[in-house]
Amino acid sequence: MLTNDCAICVRAIDYSETSQVVTFFTRRTGKVTMIAKGAKRQRSPFGGPVEIFSYGSIVFSDSGRDKLATLVEFEPLAGTLNTSVLTGDIFILNCCLFAAELVNVLTKDYDPHPGLFDGLLKFLRDVTGGKATPAARTALLTQLALFQLRLLREIGLSPVLEHCVNCKNPFSTRWHEVYFSITAKGLICRDCQGPFPDRIGLTLQAARCLADIKSLTSAGEPQIRQVEDILIRYITDVLGRPPKMAKYILNS
Ligand SMILES: [Zn+2]
Repeated sequence: MLTNDCAICVRAIDYSETSQVVTFFTRRTGKVTMIAKGAKRQRSPFGGPVEIFSYGSIVFSDSGRDKLATLVEFEPLAGTLNTSVLTGDIFILNCCLFAAELVNVLTKDYDPHPGLFDGLLKFLRDVTGGKATPAARTALLTQLALFQLRLLREIGLSPVLEHCVNCKNPFSTRWHEVYFSITAKGLICRDCQGPFPDRIGLTLQAARCLADIKSLTSAGEPQIRQVEDILIRYITDVLGRPPKMAKYILNS
């Protein structure tokens, strides 16, 4: 069966001298891993090797979902990434690689999420090339956090951020203390924190950013870094291991 779709490459590895195995996040079909035969030949049927973050319309054939699909056509569309990102600021590139990795490891094969596809496309397009200033880095971390929250919502693994997981009291900036528990998968208020030994103390501002997206978009660097730290720890728990790119996000 031949399928047409719009796709972003989230992983590309060499398979042989001439072929690649590529994972595309497609808009209507979800994540599909396929073999791109002859992609690295001089006369590649795809105009050259398929690179991570490539965006295009694709045709692929799948003969049963337990086997690799086969890429038949790839027609690039106006790109995802400004090419200078790939050679410019390593932090920007790492954030893009992290977003692609999360889509690859957290979504299921053939499970479509068109909204998430559009979100990934927008995230990658909004990233600009060149050296990131400190303000641009904060803005990028904000976009990354928004993307991660969207991803978690789309796959049904959103943490509880609007109220205390335990007593269900809605989060308010009048709370004197606020915690996040990875095992409880959400915010914990002061009265309930006792039985949650893994609780992580949050600043009120960081908790507000998690509870309210509007606050997140206007937050400063310390809050965004705390939000990102919580998201990375939470995703690490979901996966049972840290995402490979996670260590490059907050340590740089
Ligand atoms: Zn509580």
